[in-house]
Amino acid sequence: MVIILNIATRARTDFIDITQKVNEAVKDSKMTEGVCYVFIPHTTASITINENADPDVFFDIKKELEKIVPFDDKYQHTEGNSAAHIKASIIGSSESVLVENGKLLLGTWQGIFLCEFDGPRQRKVFVKII
Ligand code: ZN
Repeated sequence: MVIILNIATRARTDFIDITQKVNEAVKDSKMTEGVCYVFIPHTTASITINENADPDVFFDIKKELEKIVPFDDKYQHTEGNSAAHIKASIIGSSESVLVENGKLLLGTWQGIFLCEFDGPRQRKVFVKII
């Protein structure tokens, strides 16, 4: 069973900690061991795992991504959101985390984040434990 999380992003670039929602999905699945796949079915948003203690980590990630991929750079894609597509491909569309005793085996400082690059929007995240 695929569990769908619906998440509203708040800004053009936004990083939302979805760890608690993914943990609830693990609980709802009734699976106590396995692998939890977290996949985002969008082309201008991503999933990543990084530090959930200091928000400055994502401030820095955003700053550096914007240096690497400027918003305007004579892109050919006419929709005007090429930077978002490129950032989404750099970060990637999924993560997988081991599940043991019904819980995600994340490190102490790790969280699972939805990375928005073309918001604000309503996003879906698919979670499946196998
Ligand atoms: Zn586009």
